[in-house]
Amino acid sequence: MPDPSPAHILPRMSQRFYVNWALQPGVVEIAGAEAHHLAAVCRLRPGDAVCLFNGDGKEYPARVAAVARRKVTLEVVAVASPNRELAFPLTVAAPLPKGDRAQFFVEKLTELGATAYVPLRTERSVVHPGESKTEKLQRYVIEASKQCGRNVLMNVAALADWAEFCQRGDLSAQKVLAHRGKEGQTASAPDIFSAPVPAAGLIAAVGPEGGFTMAELDRALAYGWKQIDLGPRILRVETAAVVVAAVAGLLPAIEKLSSTSVQTESSCSYYLMGFVMAGPSRRGTPAPGLRASAANGSAVAARKTAVGVPPSSAPTF
Ligand code: SAM
Repeated sequence: MPDPSPAHILPRMSQRFYVNWALQPGVVEIAGAEAHHLAAVCRLRPGDAVCLFNGDGKEYPARVAAVARRKVTLEVVAVASPNRELAFPLTVAAPLPKGDRAQFFVEKLTELGATAYVPLRTERSVVHPGESKTEKLQRYVIEASKQCGRNVLMNVAALADWAEFCQRGDLSAQKVLAHRGKEGQTASAPDIFSAPVPAAGLIAAVGPEGGFTMAELDRALAYGWKQIDLGPRILRVETAAVVVAAVAGLLPAIEKLSSTSVQTESSCSYYLMGFVMAGPSRRGTPAPGLRASAANGSAVAARKTAVGVPPSSAPTF
């Protein structure tokens, strides 16, 4: 008889609610939107199990003790510290997309584990969020964190000017900027995905709908940013950001695979590497730091050889 609860299937997470104050075991009262969500939307009742979090990295399993018209009383029964964060800090800097796409963008970055989002003003950007918009974005972060189980909130930073941001000397993380290479120049160049896991973190910049200007690109390259190419199609801002965040989050797994297994056509990283290819920098020279790190490992070299070669068993859709 198969085990009905194999270890790889996670137990269903309790309904999660956010509070903006310190928590500890004992009685807690919540009011306002979260109380309404708990009582009227989720229709939870005394005795039901829930989970509270406040962004401090922990979560607080609790039971509903009483439900009144405008407030809910809960008893926090434990403190837990599950780690659902990325292995390194990931900052995504990009102009905010327009309309509903802004919400999608912030939700996906939160789900993918980004540590911070920096809204950018660039020469061609259109949406420049002020304080109240930033607060609204932070609310989307909370909603997405409730849903995906994050106990650390992605920080939504204040609007930054790309011309100044890209020159900042205090950015210790590896810095990459997404910008398409020239047509036909996208295969087999070094990329962030063949570099080691960036222990000090990764900052990934994505341009506006109209793209970075050549002057913006040149300035960033002069200040140590590495250009990455995400393939031959033009992605919308939010798609490009999601791709970068998703693959960055998988870097530790890719690194583990490359150190423990011989690369084969069927390996997971083969497919990952095949779909996210980096192009040469605009001038056709590979980014030096990345070239150096790629040259260090034979498994990485094997993986890079595979880039651009269509797998014989690749699925078609
Ligand atoms: N007209 C712009 C161009 O051709 O560069 C398109 C800009 S695209 C809608 C918005 C941003 O997403 C770009 O500035 C870039 O940062 C990123 N992006 C989109 N597709 C990309 C690709 N294939 N490779 C690298 N970056 C890409």
